[in-house]
Amino acid sequence: MRVGMGYDVHRLTEGRDLILGGVKIPHTTGLLGHSDADVLLHAVMDALLGAAALGDIGKHFPDTDMQYRGISSMKLLEHVAGLIREKGYIVENIDATIIAQRPKLRPYIAQMEENIAAVLGVAADQVNVKATTEEGLGFTGTEEGISAQAICALTTLYESSVTVADSARTCAGCEGCHAS
Ligand code: MG
Repeated sequence: MRVGMGYDVHRLTEGRDLILGGVKIPHTTGLLGHSDADVLLHAVMDALLGAAALGDIGKHFPDTDMQYRGISSMKLLEHVAGLIREKGYIVENIDATIIAQRPKLRPYIAQMEENIAAVLGVAADQVNVKATTEEGLGFTGTEEGISAQAICALTTLYESSVTVADSARTCAGCEGCHAS
C-alpha cells in the first residue's frame, strides 16, 4: 500500500464562483486561481499524485499554460485518475478536510464525495470529505482564503489480486490429486 498527502490554499475574492469538490456553492466570494480554483480537488489530486510518485499538479497542469485557464478541476481529476490507472494503482480510500470560516459546507459534502468517487471509479464510501473552521483564526478565519488537506491510500493490482493457484504446484492446488 502507498499513501500520499496533499495541501492547497486559494484566496477568496469577489466576482468568482465558489467551487469545492465540483459543487458550485452559493456565496458572496469565490476562490481565485488559474483554473476554477477548486482547492479541495487540488489537494485530492496532489495526494493521489504523491502516493503514485508522479510529482504534483503544478508539474502536470502548469498555471502558465492557457489550456488550463478557467478549466474545471473535475477535468483535471479525470486526467489524474487516468495516470494512476496507467501505473497500475487502485484507489483504496481518500480522506480530505476543507478549512473555511464560511459558508456552511455540510449541505454540499455528500455531493462532493459522489463527484470525486464517480471520477475515480470508486464507491462513495471510499471517499470522505470533512469541513472545519479555524475558529476565526488565521487566513481562513478572516476569510482571506480557504485551504484543504487530503490523504489517500493506493494499492497495486498485484496486492489486490486473489491467489487462485498454489505456487508450489502448477495446478489450482485442490485436494483432487496427489501432484505434490
Ligand atoms: Mg490550487
